[in-house]
Formats: sequence, structure tokens, C-alpha cells
Amino acid sequence: MSKAQKNYGGLDLFRLAAALLVVAIHTSPLTSVNGEADFFFTRVLARIAVPFFLMVTGHFMLAELSPGGTAFFPDRRSFLTPRLKKYLLRLSLLYGASILLYLPVGIYAGHYRELTSGGLLRMLLFDGTFYHLWYFPACILGVLLVSLLARYLTLWNITVISAVLYVIGLFGDSYFGLAEKVPVLNGMYAALFQISSYTRNGVFLAPLFLVLGVWAGQSPAGRVLFRNTDPSPSADADASAPKTMPVYILGLILSFCAMTAEAFILHRFHLQRHDSMYVFLIPVMFFLYRCLLAAPVPSKKILRTASTWIYVLHPAFIVVIRGAAKLLHLTGLLVDNSLLHYLAVCLLSLCAGFVMTWLTGLISPHLHKNAADTPCREGTGRAWIELDSAALEHNLRFLQSCLPENCRLMPAVKANAYGHGAEQIAGELNRLGIQDFCVACVSEGINLRKAGIKGQILILGCTHPDQFSLLGRYHLTQTVVDMEYARRLQQYGRRLHVHIAVDTGMHRLGIRCEDVEQIAAVYRMKNLTVDGIFTHLAASDSDTEEDRAFTESQILAFYQVADALEAKGCPCVGLHLLSSYGILNYPKAAADYVRPGIALYGVLSRPDELPPNSLLPVLSLKARVASVRTLHPGESAGYGMAFIAYRKTRIAVLSVGYADGLPRELSSGRGHVLIHGKKAPVIGRICMDQTLVDVSEIPEVSGQDTAVLIGCSGPERITAQELAEQCGTITNEILSRLGSRLPRIPKEAP
Ligand SMILES: *Cc1c(COP(=O)(O)O)cnc(C)c1O
Repeated sequence: MSKAQKNYGGLDLFRLAAALLVVAIHTSPLTSVNGEADFFFTRVLARIAVPFFLMVTGHFMLAELSPGGTAFFPDRRSFLTPRLKKYLLRLSLLYGASILLYLPVGIYAGHYRELTSGGLLRMLLFDGTFYHLWYFPACILGVLLVSLLARYLTLWNITVISAVLYVIGLFGDSYFGLAEKVPVLNGMYAALFQISSYTRNGVFLAPLFLVLGVWAGQSPAGRVLFRNTDPSPSADADASAPKTMPVYILGLILSFCAMTAEAFILHRFHLQRHDSMYVFLIPVMFFLYRCLLAAPVPSKKILRTASTWIYVLHPAFIVVIRGAAKLLHLTGLLVDNSLLHYLAVCLLSLCAGFVMTWLTGLISPHLHKNAADTPCREGTGRAWIELDSAALEHNLRFLQSCLPENCRLMPAVKANAYGHGAEQIAGELNRLGIQDFCVACVSEGINLRKAGIKGQILILGCTHPDQFSLLGRYHLTQTVVDMEYARRLQQYGRRLHVHIAVDTGMHRLGIRCEDVEQIAAVYRMKNLTVDGIFTHLAASDSDTEEDRAFTESQILAFYQVADALEAKGCPCVGLHLLSSYGILNYPKAAADYVRPGIALYGVLSRPDELPPNSLLPVLSLKARVASVRTLHPGESAGYGMAFIAYRKTRIAVLSVGYADGLPRELSSGRGHVLIHGKKAPVIGRICMDQTLVDVSEIPEVSGQDTAVLIGCSGPERITAQELAEQCGTITNEILSRLGSRLPRIPKEAP
């Protein structure tokens, strides 16, 4: 739900524009019009293209490395994440293929005639083996450099280092005329140019723009700089954009004017050795990127791939057009007229770009960026979970309607949001205005942060002291599970945000409610900021007299602790004690927050009575019919020959099994599924990845049909409660065990 709504259409569109600007650099479209105009077009305007590509790379490839202000990942053994490794490998492959593609042209042009091994290395690492190919090694080197630094330094430090490198680069590029006059500098740059022909490379140019991209990504500090770029969907474009957009547009215009002036002055005084780097290029890129992020344009993945192909292929079309023009005696029109030449190259490159995008899509979906992100549509999945976001919103509103006005929901999204998909559910809840969550453990909290979830995330369980650093880094709030643990948290020595658990009778976690003095001591611990205090009820789901009395004693004990703490001068804020059944049965006991889990997902733990439509199930579980076959009387099916056909039996094989979370207890007729709105009993033993059902009574079933395991089909419905009852457990267990290999996809509008 949340993923699909990230809005990067502005970036996608501009990628295409940037690719065409690069074509301009290599064709000088306006030379036959006016030299100065061409200088402006190709040496000023078009110079935003490469920094833009680098920023996009930083934003999407490096941002996840930097969740906070501290060093990105000091504990990691390798400084590259698997995702980065994959990205660099792909980039290297593309570079390798491009080298091969342009080898013949390069040889023909005599590029490699007097090549030494040092020269070869310089070409491969910095200059590129063909004029536009320098970008690939620059990007690879830059990413390696920034990732390596990220192992030891904070994002701020890396930004400073990158800026220094950029300044060094400037004096070897646009400002070389100044450096040249200082003998020491001149000597240094002479030595440098032995290694790399220009300073616009992976060391001096790339890091700064990669880092700028990182700031634009997910880090909280980045959110300050690039407000609301986090994936809280559409908020970007709709809500705040209209207010800030004019500021960014103005910033872009002013800084671009400044950059143009800068370029023309440097040009006029012949100070430029090369013209890729300007001082004002930095603010231009910042404002440009900001504008593009706010642009209300839907994402277009096809443009991303196409722009890469245009970048790689356009020099080939320059050669092709020159050759063709010569053959056809059209040189005057297609080559000498620089504008027509440019347009022809653009046209061919665009066509080739889109054809290649289409072809690579056919050959291998893996060549596409983020193929794994492509939601597995009902059309292709073997088994999948459908999420009904309207039902989620309905349940949220229903629970809110049960509670006092100022009580906030802190949904439990632990255990992958009870099997629903934590990223999707929390993303959707964020969008619906929820700002507090609770999870079971630190890794669940980190996953939410990596998915861009905002607000408070409370870890209900205990985090190992070796992992305390992660709490700060990912802005997670830790539960104080007992007094000894409070001391450990305090001893860690850095500021941590906590909620204190109070044990009022559950006897699982928490400081005993009698020990008010100890709880007060936690409030006084210097390193701990106590943002909340809570307890958990042991029997709020039961309405026997005994259980009600127990629950009421727990509620009373909790509020007595709060009063006693207030009396001792401890600021008792952020009180919470109710989970789903607590909200339904004791709504008056609600405090500052409530922690609904199962009810938010639209079901209860058992088939309890509730007013109709008060809660709507969010999840459906579906699977594909892989094959349909007929058994003759006496034949068996599945492991252990547990099913034996006593008559001619038509069976369907479903591609879902216990590894997907389908309880094995449903084997041999205890469970059923729905196909074409009719019941089909499970036969034989449920396998790890497959399940057999009897479809003798549903003759219309055929391969690739959809079977419903939880949810509705025609007039029939299977609820999670029924499944839980059949298995002698509660829905919480059934749902939270749903497998991680099931894609979670939004329910299609009916
Ligand atoms: C899991 C959990 C919840 C949510 O419980 P539900 O019964 O699913 O609403 C609330 N509080 C704590 C401490 C939990 O562990």
C-alpha cells in the first residue's frame, strides 16, 4: 500500500531530460546558431545532468545507510550491503558491455594507439574508454568511497569531506586558471592529471552529489533539509508542496542565474580547463532536486531504464548518423546543421532507449531496477495475501470511536503486523495519521524505519545490551522490562528514550507495581528519557466475574502507581494499558495511548460476538490452482497415502502449504477452501508448499483458478476465527505465522 504510493515521477521524468542534455553535451546543438548560446546550453545548463544522476543514486542506493546522525554502520564487517554489491555489480556489467560496444569505434578513431598499462588503468578507472563512459567508473568509485567513509564517519563528516574534495576538483576544472598561477598548486595538479585527465571523476565530483542524494533520502536529518521527502505517501505533492514549492522554484532560478554568471565570467577570462564543476552547481542541484521531489507526477519506471540506455547508446547514433549522412549525401543537413544533428541523435536514441527497455523487460525482468519491488499481482502469484486498506481504515475509526477524544492509537505491528506485512500496514497507518507504533523487538523497529515509517516506535520486549546503539541510531523507544534492565540502559551512557513497564498482575515483564520507589528511581536516571509508562492486562478478554475483578484490580493498581509517581514529582506522561479486548471491554480505562493489535486487523482472537460490521477483516489468503487431476477408485494422494479415493475423484493441487503458514492441522478433511464460491475439502496431508483439495463437486475448476483460504468467495466466507477454532488456537497465532514468502498486495477495488 505505502510502497506503491511513493511519488518519484518528477525524478523519473527528469532522468529522461538529463539523458537528452548529455546528448547535447556531445553534439553541441547550437554551434551553427551562436557560439555563446551553445556554451550556455552545453557547458552550463547541461552540466546539471550528471550531478542529477549521481544524486538519484545517492538517494536510492545510499540513503538507507544513514538512518541517523551517527556513523552509518560501524558494526558491519563488510562496508557494502548486499543491495549495494548487487547494484555495483550491475553497474560494472553495464560498464563492461559499453566498453565492448565502443571498442571498435575507439580503435577506428585511434584512441588506444599508444596505450601503456598505466594509461589503460587511467582510462578504466577515471577517464572512461570512450568519451561518455567516464560516468560509470566515477559512479562506482564514488559509491565505494562514500560507503567506506560511512563505516567510520557521520553523514555530516562525510558531507564536509566530499565538499573539500569538490573544492579540490573545482580548481582542477573550471577554476584551473587560478590554481595554475600558484606554482605549488600547478605542480600538484600536473601530478594529479597524470593519474586522471580531469578532476570530474569518482573522487572529486561524485561524492558530494551522492551525499546530497543521501540527504534527500530517508535520514531524519534529511527530512529537515528536504522536508517531507519521506515516503509518507502523496503528502509530498499535495499538502505542503504548494507552500514550499515557490521557495524552491525561486531558489532554483536564482542559483541557476548565479551559476550562469559564474560560468560566463570564468569563460570570459579563460580560466576554465574543463567546465563540469561550478560553485553554484551545488545550490542549483539542491533546489532542482527539491522541486522534482515535490512535483505531483506519478512514477514512471520505464523512463528510468530508458534514460540509462539513451546515455549508453547515443554516441553510437552519433557515429551512425554521420555515416548515414555521408552515404546519402545529407551531411549538410544532418551533420553541419548542428540543431538537426542533435534532434536526429535524440530521436534515434529515444527510440532505441524505449525499444531496449521493452526488450530487456522481455528477456529478464531482473534487469529492471527493483524487480523485487514489483508487487506480485494476482495474475502471477502462487499464493498471496490481499490487504484491504478500506477495512483497515474502518477498524481504525471504529476503535477511535470507542475511546475518549484525546486517546491516541499505538497499534501493535509486531510479528510482521500479525502476518499482514508490517511495512504495508504501518505505512498505511502513517498515511492515516497514526504516529505511534509498538513492535516486539529491535529488528522489527529497524525494518519499519528502513521502510520510512515515522513517529514513535516502542519495542515491547528487551533488547540485548550489545544492540543498544541501534536504539539511538534508529530512534526507537525501549521498554524498561525490570529494574536490573533499567540500570543496564542507564549504564550504556548515552541518552535513550524509554517507556516503563509496570507489572500489575500479568507477571511477565515490568517493575512490580508495589515498588513505586524503584519506578521513581528510573525517572531520575540521567540517561533515560521516560516518554511513557504502561501495563498489560492478563484477562481483559474474559467477562467472568472473577476475571473482571482481576482486570479491575490491575487497572486500579496501575492508576495508583501513576498517582504515587505524580506525588513524588515524576512527570507521568504517556500512560497506556489497553490492548484490543481492553478497548472493547474497558474503554473507560483508556489513558494517553491504547495498543490495539488483533482488532485493528478486523478480527478477534476467538469467534466472539461483536456488533455486525464493527470490525472488518483486512486480510485474505489466496492461492493458485496449480493442477487438476482425476483419481480412480482405490488410488491414493499425497504423503503417507493418507487419502484414498473411494470413488472417481477430481482433485486440485493448490500452491500453498504449511511453510506459508497454512496449519497442518487442517489436513484430511478438517479444513476446506473456496473455489468459485464453493467449498472444497482438504484431502490428504498438507505439504510444505502444496495442498490437495477435492473438487469433484466443482466441475468448473481448472488450472490457474484462484482458491480462497481466508476470505470471501461468492456467497461463502472463511474467517480466520473459524480456522483458529479448527486448529484449537487463536487467530493471533494463525495470522502471525503466515509465511514471509507470501507477497502482500493491495486488494483490487471491487
Ligand atoms: C501484542 C501486544 C498488544 C496487542 O494485543 P492485541 O490483543 O492483539 O490487541 C498490546 N500490548 C502488548 C504488551 C502486547 O504484547
